Amino acid sequence: MSTTGKVIRCRAAILWKPGASFSIEEIEVAPPKAKEVRIKILATGLCGSEMRRLNKNLNCIYPIILGHEGAGIVESVGEGVSTVNTGDKVIALFLLQCGECASCLNPEDNICKFKQSNTNLMSDGTSRFTCKGKPVYHFANTSTFSEYTVINEISVAKTDAAAPLEKVCLVGCGFSTGYGAAINTVTPGSTCAVFGLGGVGMSVIMGCKAAGAARIIAVDINKDKFEKAKEVGATECINPQDNEKPIEEVLFDMTGDGVDFCFEVIGNPATVVGKAEKMSLNWLLITWPKRL
Ligand code: NAD
Ligand code: ZN
Repeated sequence: MSTTGKVIRCRAAILWKPGASFSIEEIEVAPPKAKEVRIKILATGLCGSEMRRLNKNLNCIYPIILGHEGAGIVESVGEGVSTVNTGDKVIALFLLQCGECASCLNPEDNICKFKQSNTNLMSDGTSRFTCKGKPVYHFANTSTFSEYTVINEISVAKTDAAAPLEKVCLVGCGFSTGYGAAINTVTPGSTCAVFGLGGVGMSVIMGCKAAGAARIIAVDINKDKFEKAKEVGATECINPQDNEKPIEEVLFDMTGDGVDFCFEVIGNPATVVGKAEKMSLNWLLITWPKRL
């Protein structure tokens, strides 16, 4: 490609400090170094975890380019890259997979030990982004709120050439988080409750359905989410604000003896406090690990 080995100028949404709005800026994106891939981002999702970073400094260094649910086309690759090539359609992964550490080799684990996400820099300790002469920091090994990004080869998954990028970008975080949590846990014929019907909660519902759950009760304070929840597999939808009784009692009454699996996908662990004994012994909290 004519841009191979050169700096690319493009636009990105930069967050200069917590509490600021996104600022669309022209940035420079350096070529990929060894074992790195430069990607033209064509689609990106907006995850609940990003929304928290708009207002709060959660272990990030600013200015930063957020975005961790992205998909695009490989523009160029650095030395030693063997798993993807220029022109491949790819999904950016915020969880690296080095394939060699104890976590990657353990089928029950997927938190790769390869250290990068804490630093907001690439593995050589530098950034590939600059804006107005200053370095701009990376986020979650991905930084997909940019027309071009550079990420580690082990953070890139090649996808089918026919894949619709605006859909498969969600596999980078929300879909795999929710669907994976359900499919790896829920048993056939069970009753499930899902608290929070954002992208992750909807994916939990799809996972519960695929795992053979008999009843999937979707819970949200925004009733506009109910139609989509039913479309993807919820059998009932409840707004806790429509009930006098606490939600755990409503669920208990609906089921007779509580649900078998309960998923907290609002992002508020307090949802679980005081309800666990009443509703379910199997609570799964889907919230960001602190280090991210
Ligand atoms: P989202 O903001 O799109 O959805 C949250 C939903 O919760 C909304 O529909 C909202 O109406 C609902 N809600 C808010 N308060 C409620 C209440 N009191 N009762 C019932 N419903 C309520 O968020 P999302 O992108 O789906 O992410 C959900 C959570 O999962 C976030 O905390 C995010 O940080 C976390 N997350 C974790 C991982 C991970 O651990 N790997 C990955 C992705 C997201
Ligand atoms: Zn996410």
